[in-house]
Amino acid sequence: MKIGVLSLQGGVIEHIKSINALGFDAVEVKTLKDIKDISGLILPGGESTAIGKILRETGMLTTLRDKVLSGLPVWGTCAGMILLAKEIESDSTTHLSVMDIKVRRNAYGRQIDSFSTEDIVKCVSDKSIPLVFIRAPFIVSVGEDVEVLHELKGNIVAAKQNNILVTSFHPELTENLEFHKYFISMCQS
Ligand code: GLN
Repeated sequence: MKIGVLSLQGGVIEHIKSINALGFDAVEVKTLKDIKDISGLILPGGESTAIGKILRETGMLTTLRDKVLSGLPVWGTCAGMILLAKEIESDSTTHLSVMDIKVRRNAYGRQIDSFSTEDIVKCVSDKSIPLVFIRAPFIVSVGEDVEVLHELKGNIVAAKQNNILVTSFHPELTENLEFHKYFISMCQS
């Protein structure tokens, strides 16, 4: 089984290392031909505006959108979450626009307000895991088909809607592989 990592901009290599550490192959997705035989796709952190622009300019946006709508498992971390959202607060632009969530970009403030913490995220483990937030968004509202997976201080930071998983934080920047395991199990089912 191969897991694709969208490799246009942002934190690609860390996701590839985490997937490899679990014994699975990871492929860099730079063009549409790279998505042919992947079982799931990770949209990494980075700058959602930049990634969205490249997706549009390269003509990948519509095909990726169709793939996700037809069931390809996808996991957006941070900027990836913004790319998947159907609504971005105070912004009329959306990108892949496939998940019934409204997100607030840079919800915790600027770069200097980035932080890490630890918490138990029940869907992945009974033990506390590290959560790293870098100019992170959070979810301000969800549609009825969206399952809230985790809240931090009352804000939604992880959610799932069928084949779509999103996290505000970056498991790939930690040694902990529980979220990657969780996504791989979505890809296997
Ligand atoms: N602030 C970025 C954005 O709005 C997301 C930051 C990240 O992915 N670490 O796209």
